[in-house]
Amino acid sequence: MFLKYKNLRGNSVLINHEKIHLRQQLELLIIPFFVIYGIEFCVRLAQYKNWHMAYKNISFEREAYSNEKDLDYIKSRPLYVFINYFRR
Ligand SMILES: [Zn+2]
Repeated sequence: MFLKYKNLRGNSVLINHEKIHLRQQLELLIIPFFVIYGIEFCVRLAQYKNWHMAYKNISFEREAYSNEKDLDYIKSRPLYVFINYFRR
């Protein structure tokens, strides 16, 4: 979501990260994705009191960062699997 953190990563990994977000957005019919993303960011910010830590710990980002290096991840990704990343 925030390009400045992506400069250090390879292009195919970056594209894969965005593909994971695209899949998450489709599963949530797009608008709710951004609503939940925003709400969870605020919750994480209260939890970590650090902007970058809050961002990295949003469930959608946890899933995307955990799996972005697996370029075949999207092919075998279970539906709504980001729910598993909501754990504290
Ligand atoms: Zn992201």
